[in-house]
Amino acid sequence: MPKRKPKSKAMKPKGKKSKEKIRPKKVDLNVPKPESKHELKISAIQDGTVIDHIPTDATFKVADILGLVNHNDVVSIAFNLQSKSIGRKGIVKVAGKSLTQEEVNKIAIVAPDATVNIIKNFNVREKIKVKLPEVVNNVVKCSNPVCITNSEQVSTKFYVLKKDPLKIKCHYCERSMGKEDIEIV
Ligand SMILES: [Zn+2]
Repeated sequence: MPKRKPKSKAMKPKGKKSKEKIRPKKVDLNVPKPESKHELKISAIQDGTVIDHIPTDATFKVADILGLVNHNDVVSIAFNLQSKSIGRKGIVKVAGKSLTQEEVNKIAIVAPDATVNIIKNFNVREKIKVKLPEVVNNVVKCSNPVCITNSEQVSTKFYVLKKDPLKIKCHYCERSMGKEDIEIV
C-alpha cells in the first residue's frame, strides 16, 4: 500500500501577510429567483401627476397640451406600452405639477380614456377619470383654412357634438371635425 502523502502543510497564519481565503458561497439552485417585473417602470415621482391610459399615438399631444417642453422638473414620457384595456398606451409622468381642471378637460380631447393620478409623497392621492367638456376652448386647431381662427388672433372654440367617436364643430365657421382631423393649437 502506497504511503499516503502527508497532509499538506497546515495553513500557518503568517501574520499580516497571509491572505484570507475567499470561499465561493454555496448557491442553492432551488431557491426561486425574485419574480421579474414585466411592467416598465419609469422613475417614480414624489409629487406630481401621472397621466395613464393615453392612446399611444396621442402621447405627445398630451405633452403638448401640458406645455411640458418648458417644464423645469422631471418629465418621463413612455409610449407603445402594453395595455389590457386599450391595446398600446402611453404614460406621461410630470414631477412638480398638478393639473388644472381645464388641462384635464383638454387631455380628454385626445385621450378620452386617460386616468390622471395625483401623486403626493410617492403615493397616488387621487385618481381622476378625464371627462370631455361640452365646449373646447383654445385646444384644437380648426381644419378649415379660411376659418377666422386661422387668420386672426382668435382663440378657437368647438362644441362637442358626439363623444364616441369624437365629433366637434367650430363655433366660427361651423366646420365639423372628427378625431382624425384634430390638431392641437
Ligand atoms: Zn373654424
